[in-house]
Amino acid sequence: MNSENIKKGGISVDTEHIFPIIKKWLYSEKDIFLREIVSNATDAITKYKRLQSLGQIPSDDCAYRITVTLDKDAGTISVSDNGIGMSAEELETYICNIALSGAFEFIQKYEGEGGANGIIGHFGLGFYSAFMVSDSVEIYTKSFTDAPGVHWVCDESGSYSTEACDKADRGTTVIMHVTDEEREYLDRTRLIGMLRKYCAFMPVEIYFEDGDEEKAESAPINDTAPLWQSNPSDCTDEQYKDFYNKVFSDFKEPLFHIHINADYPLNFKGILYFPRISSEYESIEGQVKLYYNQVFVADNIKEVIPDYLLMLRGVLDCPELPLNVSRSYLQNNTYVTKVSAHIVKKVADKLNSLCNLEREQYEKIWNDIRIFVEYASIRDRKFYERVKGSLLLSLTDGTHVTVDEYLEKAKVTNEGVVYYTTDRALQAQYISLFASQGISVAVLEKTLDTQFISALESYRDDVKFKRIDADVAEAIKGDGEVSEQPELTELFRRVSGSEQMSVTYQPLKDASVPALLNVTEESSRMAEMMRMYAMSTGAAPMDFPTEYSLVVNTASPLYAKLLTLHAQDPEKAALIAGHIYSLSLLAQRKLTAEELQRFLSDSFSLLELL
Ligand code: ADP
Repeated sequence: MNSENIKKGGISVDTEHIFPIIKKWLYSEKDIFLREIVSNATDAITKYKRLQSLGQIPSDDCAYRITVTLDKDAGTISVSDNGIGMSAEELETYICNIALSGAFEFIQKYEGEGGANGIIGHFGLGFYSAFMVSDSVEIYTKSFTDAPGVHWVCDESGSYSTEACDKADRGTTVIMHVTDEEREYLDRTRLIGMLRKYCAFMPVEIYFEDGDEEKAESAPINDTAPLWQSNPSDCTDEQYKDFYNKVFSDFKEPLFHIHINADYPLNFKGILYFPRISSEYESIEGQVKLYYNQVFVADNIKEVIPDYLLMLRGVLDCPELPLNVSRSYLQNNTYVTKVSAHIVKKVADKLNSLCNLEREQYEKIWNDIRIFVEYASIRDRKFYERVKGSLLLSLTDGTHVTVDEYLEKAKVTNEGVVYYTTDRALQAQYISLFASQGISVAVLEKTLDTQFISALESYRDDVKFKRIDADVAEAIKGDGEVSEQPELTELFRRVSGSEQMSVTYQPLKDASVPALLNVTEESSRMAEMMRMYAMSTGAAPMDFPTEYSLVVNTASPLYAKLLTLHAQDPEKAALIAGHIYSLSLLAQRKLTAEELQRFLSDSFSLLELL
């Protein structure tokens, strides 16, 4: 072709502005250039297929494919497709005339909040993201019509030239000449990693080549028919598990999944998984990947899925959203709000249907999922309202009941009160006292539980939660008079070293226990909150003084003996009272070093009395 036929031009009037902006603004998200170019290639193939399905061009059995080629020596990355292609006029219209009206106003408005992503989406500059890593970009393209092939070259200042070329096959090849500063992109692992991230589910097969025959990838990088696009009734459990393993590289089986297939008017699809967490301290950071027509957009967009559900893992495909979304766009978008509400509803529906229809299975996984459900209930009253009938309490005997089931059973013994333990080992004695009275005790040993029960109490006024050491005297109160014994009170205060300690006298149903500590619910919750706070800030745990009283069991034979002994042998009575106090401490919490020492020396003295 002689040079007179070469057409020259400059990319729109504002090129000298737009090119530096593309480079500067997209700095933090440079990787997306590959997504943009590959998704343009996908679009080109989709368009071609559509023309075929509309009968505008005859069908052929062509294998559609996109090839991404790395040529390290030439310093190029190319993306080829066998899609619709462009004529010289189309190239001029679609590539050279960037619609910039209003672009600068837009840039100013969104300055500082990842605006570039918005600019690109807004003004259809996807193709130009190639210039983030290239100093020049070439296009070879041949339209599906009989228009001749076109070769276009554009440098980083925006000046380009177009000439006819003899490309014979339909489709487009974009060649990016990578700049010296961005040579890190000329790397096989890097490129494959980017393709796996952004293009893993694009609808056309993508192959990677790097000129090295031995390493040539024979299988496509992507899965062109991701599971979320299928009809849920056509998918097997095995497929859901495999998909989870593959996408999240987590080989623990997820607990269950929710396949959302919302059509008109919402039109989005997705699969959410409840992951299996092995310990409370394992990071529960989930990962919800957002796609636009199978093109990866971003992770964990909390505008689309409430942040408390981001502990889940999953994929969402929202074709109604633009590929490049800005946060502020999402925040003010009613479609997004509806999608988010729909997800919340679906998650709640799933929990309710498991609880109602597969109770046994639900109970089995409850301890694994409760952290999600409780957290979500704390965060969102509406979510709570949807799932309130499916919130279970795990009891000390290993069974599970809903809050209402618990209250129903508790009507006679402890109406409106749920008793709970925060530590089955430490509070074992209290647990056995409750068990002997047929009162169920819920196990609330997780860090989140204190917050959860406070939320529940604020949501419903017909239930109070009490730790078993808070109300033990009331719960297992025996028959008989409550008396006051000022001398014993004085004695217990003296041996405990706590002059202000409250001492009460009450017959308890179990005569074997001489005394118990009653700790106020408020103070133990406060202590729990402080402990959580210390854990989350990394500060040293503070010892929060608990407010407690000593309940002396007047039904215990030891009580009568102590009364007599107090008159006859005050010294021995003091030793015994001290020991009773230590035992009540021991049943309630861990002893301090000092208390332990005292407990041991008292024990030795008592043994010597034999
Ligand atoms: P957008 O894709 O948002 O429209 P782009 O700047 O990425 O913006 O692309 C502009 C246009 O150039 C596309 O809409 C399409 O018409 C055309 N185009 C880009 N890449 C290709 C391709 N590989 N094959 C055919 N046409 C393409």
